[in-house]
Amino acid sequence: MTVPDSSLWWVRRDMRLADNPAAASAAESRNHAAIMCWTPGVHFWSGRRVAHLARVAWQLREAMGGALSVRRGEPAQVVTEAARQADASVVWAAQEFSPSGVATQDAVRTALEADGRELRFVGSPYAVAPGRVRKSDGDPYKVFTPFRESWRAHGWRSPAPALDGHGWDRLSASDQDVDLDQMAAHGDTTDPLLAPHEFREERVLADFGSFVDDALDRYQSERDRPDLDSTSHLSTALAFGQIHPRTVLAAAARHDHPSARIFESELAWREFHADVLFHHPGARRESLTPVLSNQDWVAGTKADAAFMAWRDGLTGFPMVDAGMRQLAQTGWMHNRVRMVVASFLVKDLRVPWQRGADHFRRALVDYDHAQNQLNWQWVAGTGRDAAPFFRIFNPESQRDKFDPQRRYVERWIPELDTPGYPTPMLDHKAERAVTLEMYQRAKAQRSR
Ligand SMILES: Cc1cc2nc3c(=O)[nH]c(=O)nc-3n(C[C@H](O)[C@H](O)[C@H](O)COP(=O)(O)OP(=O)(O)OC[C@H]3O[C@@H](n4cnc5c(N)ncnc54)[C@H](O)[C@@H]3O)c2cc1C
Repeated sequence: MTVPDSSLWWVRRDMRLADNPAAASAAESRNHAAIMCWTPGVHFWSGRRVAHLARVAWQLREAMGGALSVRRGEPAQVVTEAARQADASVVWAAQEFSPSGVATQDAVRTALEADGRELRFVGSPYAVAPGRVRKSDGDPYKVFTPFRESWRAHGWRSPAPALDGHGWDRLSASDQDVDLDQMAAHGDTTDPLLAPHEFREERVLADFGSFVDDALDRYQSERDRPDLDSTSHLSTALAFGQIHPRTVLAAAARHDHPSARIFESELAWREFHADVLFHHPGARRESLTPVLSNQDWVAGTKADAAFMAWRDGLTGFPMVDAGMRQLAQTGWMHNRVRMVVASFLVKDLRVPWQRGADHFRRALVDYDHAQNQLNWQWVAGTGRDAAPFFRIFNPESQRDKFDPQRRYVERWIPELDTPGYPTPMLDHKAERAVTLEMYQRAKAQRSR
């Protein structure tokens, strides 16, 4: 393929210069510029997530010598306008596979083509693009383990060489340009740009390197322990594309320890969920497997009260409350605790999973549509994988097992052992029995 004279890099969930085929392809052109869209949807995000986006964009712009334009508006209009300004015949981008990502890139392609320009995809936020790994009969996998084996056998490329950030052309100013300094301060009382190194791509890579050197060997034994906090914390960088999973997998492959294979398997979950959503776009809202009858879910004021106690960390179950407070205070929660709180909402309180997933969307900084919706479906037992509905997490025994010294719950619930802390809002054993009875009834009705 001939290299166009002028290209544009459309920055999406790939906000990095290392291992970035879309940026590298654009940089091959004699003239090359970059555009990022600040879409109207960002205004539904939490202040913390907006601030994070702005800080990551700010860092990327710094790394590109100031030559990244970030503009408000719908991508079809913003990208086309920028391509016109840069006189770019080709726009390079990483391909998305989620329902909204696909709709956006279709609109951008149509607008560019109408303007006599071309959208070319290179790479995606995954090691193996969703839709590629299939059973021998061509059908998608429904169950995780065989998917993972096939995914490993498929393999992936080595990381692409890093760019140095020099040589990008600056687009002239526009009244749609976003004031990143102001946005970076959103929802925060401290000046975030006082510590810019915190958000740099180099910092993400260095932190990951330290994780591999210092903690990866312990991953197998400690990854379920929220009190030890031994996981990689890579989810936010992966969600914003500050690191590519290929880079992560290459480091894990070099690490000769059984823990590295478990860690790799967690990344396979990320790829599996993206694959499931690609094949079943309706899974973003609808249960793939129904579990209870419509009338069995709580509704109205009862549902609102239950939801608010859960959301505010006031259920009287320390593991649930600690998790919800960690989420509220930091925008992140340990995976084991995400499972416990999600199970509690769906199976103890019988609130539909979609309401919990919506709350996570608003609160998580590492929010990722496919991961969030499909993990909720996994815990709710409504997903594609074999997680059965009748496996109900007991919040007390989960705490005994994974927070044995109560360090995690004490950290997030200062009033834990005082009269100020609520008594349990329900009897877990009794609710479990009711939920299971409803489940069996609904199952019998469906099979009639
Ligand atoms: C109800 C619920 C909602 C979730 N919502 C999100 C979300 O919006 N965004 C998100 O990135 N993760 C989500 N997860 C998955 C998981 O909790 C986080 O990826 C993990 O806690 C992030 O911490 P870490 O980077 O330290 O993970 P590590 O244990 O260090 O794992 C490394 C990477 O593997 C991937 N990974 C690990 N566990 C999972 C998993 N269960 N599913 C998919 N990928 C996984 C992540 O990319 C993670 O960064 C959710 C899980 C549950 C149960």
